[in-house]
Amino acid sequence: MKIIKKINELKKIRKSINGSAGFVPTMGYLHEGHLALVKKSISENEVTFVSIFVNPAQFGPDEDFQKYPRNFDKDCNKLKELGCDFVFWPVEDEIYHNQKVFINIKEYSDVLCGEKRPGHFQGVLTVVAKLFNIVEPDTAYFGQKDYQQLLIIKKLVKDLNFNINIKSGRTIREKDGLAMSSRNKLLNKEERKHATLLFKLGKYVCNEYRNGMSFSEIQKKIKNFLKQNMDTNIMKVDYIEIKNENNLSHEDFLNPDSRLFLAFFCGKTRLIDNFKLSEENF
Ligand code: AMP
Repeated sequence: MKIIKKINELKKIRKSINGSAGFVPTMGYLHEGHLALVKKSISENEVTFVSIFVNPAQFGPDEDFQKYPRNFDKDCNKLKELGCDFVFWPVEDEIYHNQKVFINIKEYSDVLCGEKRPGHFQGVLTVVAKLFNIVEPDTAYFGQKDYQQLLIIKKLVKDLNFNINIKSGRTIREKDGLAMSSRNKLLNKEERKHATLLFKLGKYVCNEYRNGMSFSEIQKKIKNFLKQNMDTNIMKVDYIEIKNENNLSHEDFLNPDSRLFLAFFCGKTRLIDNFKLSEENF
């Protein structure tokens, strides 16, 4: 496995590759959610590139960029073991030196995480577009854990005519249901225990949907569920929304395209998750 730190070096290597190239962009501190995407890429392509770059442009001024977990050596060991071919590990200046152009999307980015984290998707779109131009993959892999991000990247590829196939992987969870995330490392013992609230709520809402509950009934049930199950000293709601999974629009009636989107603060750590109501997520 080769570690590449410079854009020019990566471009040179890319030119010499004839077969298909898969690409998994990450911010590192890799867990089984990332690795499932890497495995998929390895099984479907001749070569696989993984990028590890904690992208400052997608963090707000009061967010956790500084304390975002990092462990490059451990990440490399995991990737080597899977048979990953190339790791792109640039420093910030290599990516953003004198950068003046940033990419924005109106649609989808004024709701959910876009609304709560102003500038976040501009940072994501800009770095992903740059990485796509650097790596020039045939296929890039993204997790459904960040469902809004996945939709936005599909739109980026379509609207800016990237010749890249976008594939997604399902959300990988811990044994108790908590969606795997590098940020879980930031939780203390007590917070970690309470973090399963997102999964429990997701499971509960999906069950109620299958029982035929209406939108307004489910909203009441969610309120009651939180009253009974949420320790407000530890957990705080950022948003709880049910939206159409194809365009993130609000709908008054639940239907097979309805998806529950959750964002909570657990202590100071922000956790997100999502659940397709009509699907067995568990
Ligand atoms: P990140 O390092 O958090 O930027 O994530 C890199 C990629 O891994 C993104 O496409 C995420 O959606 C995906 N990912 C992160 N956590 C999970 C998970 N628990 N299950 C599946 N994919 C994930």
